[in-house]
Amino acid sequence: MVAVFVIAIVAVSYIVSTRIHPLRGCPTCNATGRHFGSVYKTGHRRCRRCAGSGRKDRVGTKVFWGGTNNTGIFPKK
Ligand SMILES: [Zn+2]
Repeated sequence: MVAVFVIAIVAVSYIVSTRIHPLRGCPTCNATGRHFGSVYKTGHRRCRRCAGSGRKDRVGTKVFWGGTNNTGIFPKK
């Protein structure tokens, strides 16, 4: 019974945390928003995964809040 209670507390804190901090760093470009070439090291382009923003919605942000389209701004209802 105590375990169920603990899991509920953790779940609620996670849901609240995805509302307060909806974004994570883009894992593809390491949150830089840039993708560098492997031969010409200074050449780069916008990261395709995050469209150059370096930001991605957290999984919980999409699941519980419908996502912010990687902007961190929740759409007005
Ligand atoms: Zn990226």
